[in-house]
Amino acid sequence: MERIKELLTKYFGYEDFRTGQRELIDAVLSSRDVFGIMPTGGGKSMCYQLPALMLHGITLVISPLISLMKDQVLSLKNAGISAAFVNSSLTPEQLRKVYGYMADRRYKIIYVAPERLFTEGFLDTVRQLEISFIAVDEAHCISQWGQDFRPGYLKIPQFIAMLPSRPVVGAFTATATRSVTEDIKKHLGLKNPLMTVTGFDRPNLYFDVISPEDKMKKLISLLSEREDKSGIVYCSTRKDVERVEETLRIRGFSVTRYHAGLDIEERRQNQDDFIFDRKSIMVATNAFGMGIDKSNVSFVFHYNMPKSLEAYYQEAGRAGRDGENADCILLFSPGDIMTAKFLINNSSDNEELTEEQKMTVLEADMSRLREMESYCKTKGCLRRCLLTYFGQKAPDNCCNCGNCREETETVDITDISDIIFTCVFEIKKHLGYALGVTFLTKVLKGSRESKLLEMSLHTLSSYGRLSVMSASEIRRITDFLVFEGYLRKNEFDALFITEKAVEVNRGNESVYMEMRKTAERGKKEKTKKSGANAEDSRLYELLRQKRLEIAKEENVPAYIIFSNATLSDMAKKAPETYEQFLTVTGVGQVKADLYADEFTKIIKKYASET
Ligand code: ADP
Repeated sequence: MERIKELLTKYFGYEDFRTGQRELIDAVLSSRDVFGIMPTGGGKSMCYQLPALMLHGITLVISPLISLMKDQVLSLKNAGISAAFVNSSLTPEQLRKVYGYMADRRYKIIYVAPERLFTEGFLDTVRQLEISFIAVDEAHCISQWGQDFRPGYLKIPQFIAMLPSRPVVGAFTATATRSVTEDIKKHLGLKNPLMTVTGFDRPNLYFDVISPEDKMKKLISLLSEREDKSGIVYCSTRKDVERVEETLRIRGFSVTRYHAGLDIEERRQNQDDFIFDRKSIMVATNAFGMGIDKSNVSFVFHYNMPKSLEAYYQEAGRAGRDGENADCILLFSPGDIMTAKFLINNSSDNEELTEEQKMTVLEADMSRLREMESYCKTKGCLRRCLLTYFGQKAPDNCCNCGNCREETETVDITDISDIIFTCVFEIKKHLGYALGVTFLTKVLKGSRESKLLEMSLHTLSSYGRLSVMSASEIRRITDFLVFEGYLRKNEFDALFITEKAVEVNRGNESVYMEMRKTAERGKKEKTKKSGANAEDSRLYELLRQKRLEIAKEENVPAYIIFSNATLSDMAKKAPETYEQFLTVTGVGQVKADLYADEFTKIIKKYASET
């Protein structure tokens, strides 16, 4: 067998490369720079871990994520590959030890945080070693247009120039917008890199956006349908994390929380509880998850809309990394837009930036927010919306997102539209200025709010005319009317009618809207295929128990032993011998040596009983 394939099977237990991996690895091995753009979960790490095994010298992986480094080093060690990390979590004593082992050439792969590159101990040590390959992970951090700009990344070329000879350089990211990729190439000084953009599609992820009247109620019902599953609920603010976690805890869910306001000890404890499957649900802000490689995440729900599609796809992408079916559902309300704007305007992330850099970042943030908002409001295929954003062509209908799966019906909304237009018109005439959708909705619902009464809005003929409809329905229709050009918004989001609306008012035109048959939704969610059948089987459960037991003994997360996909395949193939065990996907030689005995014993016992 070809050596490269041999290593893939021996150490990682995989039969084949995923799209893009082989080309990138071959280029690195022929000393060419590379630039790999792959979605979260696409398998970027293989593109530097496998070459690391084949290259003569050492591979340095520059990564901003401390938790990811720890996780990957643990995984590599578990697969029989010597690796280490260098970051601020190590004590001076531990650092000295790592540097000593580095000098002894004990490691093939070393993960390092960008701020460590220029520290004396590190620089002195690496300058005496043969560095064959530098892989820059999360390479978008080098760009002001990227979502996590870190000025420290800009110094990487300077670091490379200080090495005795220039190693091959590789950049890896999941962000593919043009401005960001150009910035990465330029600032990293990549030389004629082999560029691979692999499909961003994650077919095993189901996407949906819903706008429930009561988010908490909806969240509880979504979680109740997934009682035995593990997943993340993202909220925009710490306050929401506290509130949601508490409500769920009181209701008896196995839940924990994570945000930057908690002390380090609680954060570590809660993260471990989730990763080690002691708690099934993690409620968190976006502070959680950077570098979390837990593979058995079956759902990612967003309680609020994030600030960008990059952030959304990255967070949602933490679901189903093991290839099993998983659900990514965003609970949207228009208030989320205000919260996101507030968070962008008050971000303290960028304090070290110049004024000019800050303006560029703000402008880029606002434009990303607008794209995010369109995703929440589109009636088209959600997957297509995401993929198009990331520069990839996609069919009109993916058959696996809320909008494509849902049965819709064409509803004549001419009468409702007419009332909305009248209300917009009357408000402007009555006050002399226009108002936004929040007030419009209140007037149409006939709210008794004092502000409304003070402005005498209850005297309008349209006041209370849509009181039977829910506020979110009125908003949804109003959004649609804006989208279709019947209404116009100014820069303050105040609403005005257009010529098109006047035509409807005159009775010359009708308005139709595609609406979801919402009553069907719950039924569909339950019947939709979820995960492999093997997962439901008794054998799978027995194997899962064994994995948990070993993970506890070894004090590592369960997915470091085997991913869910590997357990599924094991349950399906039911190997009874060492050789058969090696054919299970995700089982390399080291893992087979370690675990074949224990797992095949269970399988044999199961087979004899059934
Ligand atoms: P990324 O860094 O791109 O987010 P990872 O490198 O963490 O993604 O890979 C995601 C998952 O895919 C991991 O569980 C990894 O073991 C698995 N994986 C990587 N390459 C392959 C392959 N060739 N075949 C099967 N699984 C793979």
